[in-house]
Amino acid sequence: MQKVLILGGGIGGVAAAIAFRKQGFEVELVSERDYLFIYPLAIWIPVGSISFKDVSMPLSKLARKHDFSLTIDKVVALDGIHKTITFEHSGIRNSPALVVVALGASKLTHEGIDFLASICFNS
Ligand SMILES: Cc1cc2nc3c(=O)[nH]c(=O)nc-3n(C[C@H](O)[C@H](O)[C@H](O)COP(=O)(O)OP(=O)(O)OC[C@H]3O[C@@H](n4cnc5c(N)ncnc54)[C@H](O)[C@@H]3O)c2cc1C
Repeated sequence: MQKVLILGGGIGGVAAAIAFRKQGFEVELVSERDYLFIYPLAIWIPVGSISFKDVSMPLSKLARKHDFSLTIDKVVALDGIHKTITFEHSGIRNSPALVVVALGASKLTHEGIDFLASICFNS
């Protein structure tokens, strides 16, 4: 079975994991946090109408249901030349042929909004 490694446990990574499993791939998803956070609902947290547990879903539950493996670790480097991925806890690994990078856009600073403060960018 061909293996695919998915980096990131947000909606992009989880959707990719489910889609690849449905196609018969062996899937491992790596996320620095152990839950899927449902951002659209999170706007109601500041006004107190819902809490953190209402907008987060354990990745372990999703992994069990959709039969993919889950590793909680942080990606610290991707090396496309040597085809390796470095994780904070488990160290350097050779990457499989298929890797999905779904780490979110929070690390990108878009020109013109560098100093903008918004709850939509503070994930
Ligand atoms: C308040 C708010 C409301 C929103 N409302 C809507 C809406 O109504 N409709 C809509 O379509 N979109 C909405 N969005 C946007 C939507 O949430 C994002 O487009 C979506 O979450 C992007 O998904 P993603 O999986 O690409 O990234 P993310 O959700 O950012 O997921 C990235 C994942 O990667 C993990 N990760 C990051 N760095 C590392 C690392 N180095 N190592 C390991 N793991 C890492 C993170 O922990 C996270 O689990 C909203 C966003 C916010 C903030």
